[in-house]
Amino acid sequence: MKPFKVAIPKSVEQASRFQKSDDSPFIAGGTDLLARIKEYVVQPETIVDLKRIEGMTGITSTDDGIRIGALTTMNEVATDGSVTDDYPALSETIMNAATPQIRNMATIGGNICQKPRCWYLRHEGYSCAKNGGSGCWAREGENEFHAIFDNQVCAVTSPSNVAPVLVAYSALIEIQGGEEKREIPAEDFFITPDQDPGREVLLEPGEVVISIHLPAKNRTKKWSYTEAREKQSFDWAQASVTMLYDRGGRKGDHRVVLGAVSPAPLRRDDLEKILKSGSLDDAMIKKLQMKIGDGSHPLSQNGYKVPMLRGLIAQGVRNISGRKEG
Ligand SMILES: Cc1cc2nc3c(=O)[nH]c(=O)nc-3n(C[C@H](O)[C@H](O)[C@H](O)COP(=O)(O)OP(=O)(O)OC[C@H]3O[C@@H](n4cnc5c(N)ncnc54)[C@H](O)[C@@H]3O)c2cc1C
Ligand code: SF4
Repeated sequence: MKPFKVAIPKSVEQASRFQKSDDSPFIAGGTDLLARIKEYVVQPETIVDLKRIEGMTGITSTDDGIRIGALTTMNEVATDGSVTDDYPALSETIMNAATPQIRNMATIGGNICQKPRCWYLRHEGYSCAKNGGSGCWAREGENEFHAIFDNQVCAVTSPSNVAPVLVAYSALIEIQGGEEKREIPAEDFFITPDQDPGREVLLEPGEVVISIHLPAKNRTKKWSYTEAREKQSFDWAQASVTMLYDRGGRKGDHRVVLGAVSPAPLRRDDLEKILKSGSLDDAMIKKLQMKIGDGSHPLSQNGYKVPMLRGLIAQGVRNISGRKEG
């Protein structure tokens, strides 16, 4: 590992100044960034440690939902009563991610800003469309875990378990750069290589994710998060399906969001329309299964993700129909 300096800002304004001045990455739990530094994928002169900034940890409940500080650990989020009671899909997806040790170190802000897992991207010897070069090694190479949707420019998958669930709840990502604050709907925060091959999220240099707001109006007891992965733990999803049914008690306000099959979480309003059209029975499962692969362009080794999605959505419908109104 190349030696680096650590800047320790006391405020977001200071953190923005440090990063703007020399393009130094922010660090939170370090479970993603330090691995990339150790592997010489990034070699910063300085890293900017966010952990001493006050007011960025913890979960607060308000009339309009909950606000989760970006430095709150994944474990704290997954086990908090207001999350397990009111936003259970978020708790479930986190408990499916990584390992207990990592969930105790990693923060929710770092989770949604983590870099994709493409093995070419994470090897210092490969240059491609995503890191300033051109072309995509995965298209003709090893692409078993890559994207089957929106994979023309770059076939990375969004690695964050949390991201598709935030899209399903229509969460707002609260950001600060210098003294300026703004909020971005989760659906717009995660971007595709078509929009910008170099970025995965809509952050400008110097901008920090300070918190995540989950609106009360989108809570529902009828939910499902299903994922498939190769190993039982210590592994990322190969595909996931998040389903929220009758959000906020509004009949027909459903969300279906696919994870780990495209560079950003993929909301499927065509599947949401099918869900609106009838009851949660076997006929409905069949219709959803027929449609879920539409628009996919599997590469040489990842066509298995389409039948995998069919199995996950079938399980999702059964999970929801088995849950009581509560
Ligand atoms: C073995 C293993 C298995 C894993 N499995 C999964 C899995 O199944 N699902 C899953 O979702 N993840 C998985 N992960 C990834 C893990 O969840 C992430 O590494 C972690 O969430 C990152 O959080 P962190 O706080 O450690 O981020 P850091 O490593 O500190 O930062 C990650 C990135 O985010 C940026 N960043 C951090 N915080 C902020 C902020 N507040 N504002 C702006 N930018 C910020 C940093 O600059 C950096 O680029 C796994 C990791 C390992 C090692
Ligand atoms: S999938 Fe994206 S990151 Fe991986 S080699 Fe292709 S262009 Fe590069």
